[in-house]
Amino acid sequence: MADLKLYDPFSKMQFTDEHCFLCGITITTADRTPVFGEWMQKKYNLENKELLLLDKSITTFSQLTIPCCNQCHTNYILPLEEEIEKASEADYEGIKLLDPKRLFQWIGKMYYGTLVTELIREKDPLIMPENPVSENPQMLGKFRTFYQVLQSLRVPMVFSDFQPCSLFILQVEPTEDNLPFEYQDELSTMAFSIKLGPVVIVCKLLDNGIISKAMGRMYKLIESRQLHPIQVAEFKAQVFYAAYIFNVVPDYFIRTIKPDDKQLVLDTLIDDVTNEVFNPWEPVAYAHMLEEMLKPWSIREQQILADPTRLLTFLTDEKGEFKTIEHFAQ
Ligand SMILES: [Zn+2]
Repeated sequence: MADLKLYDPFSKMQFTDEHCFLCGITITTADRTPVFGEWMQKKYNLENKELLLLDKSITTFSQLTIPCCNQCHTNYILPLEEEIEKASEADYEGIKLLDPKRLFQWIGKMYYGTLVTELIREKDPLIMPENPVSENPQMLGKFRTFYQVLQSLRVPMVFSDFQPCSLFILQVEPTEDNLPFEYQDELSTMAFSIKLGPVVIVCKLLDNGIISKAMGRMYKLIESRQLHPIQVAEFKAQVFYAAYIFNVVPDYFIRTIKPDDKQLVLDTLIDDVTNEVFNPWEPVAYAHMLEEMLKPWSIREQQILADPTRLLTFLTDEKGEFKTIEHFAQ
């Protein structure tokens, strides 16, 4: 019988360097796996690149590792990294062909890796974060739900009729693109983006694809286009803002396991009766998010809001058609 038992580190808050992040078995502090695949660190020269943690301490991509037993590292993490590495060799076409579930697991591992690092650090009495994640029951509940579906990385699992996230894959026009790699994630809103050469993957975890549907028209318009970096930044702002106003957490239910089952089947439900799925869309708050994303081009909030009937956009023209931008000039 396949081992279909899920692990729940949240029930005992078992976040230590002595427990595998994926299966929970006791390990030594030497058993670790990198949050960012080694192939990616090498390919994009990230080893010594700095990363800012939530408590404002600085680490590097190569130093960011999480507790992981040999079994999980060899059987689940390495094959996943290899699959993504291979796909990324063919850039957009390769990434596009990946099973969305594998992309979800890959992104989920990096996201959860940063989260686990935070939770382990919060146990250190010398580190006193202002708003510890481990003392926020609402956030912990959300992370715990997310961890259920992330375990599809180890435990064979079928999502009955949903993807646990929204995924967008964009391609960047090379002329004014000088950023080989970029990474951004927001712990509380579960918005994530990563740039691998000319491909940008934007993701909102744990929304069951609702943002994908809500942004379907815009995504269709830009999906097969070569985008100017400023257009990528704007699209990212839209997804990150949608993640910010996203207001529900799905519930996942495991179907009863029969003795010869080889995988778990998960059903899902979103309670959109008690809560609205999205909080209201606020132009000023969105403009603020867009301003953040457009920092490299020094575009200010006032410019974004100048015409209240039509906020500044680089993606579409007045008719709502896709706008090609090869060179950006203010
Ligand atoms: Zn393990």
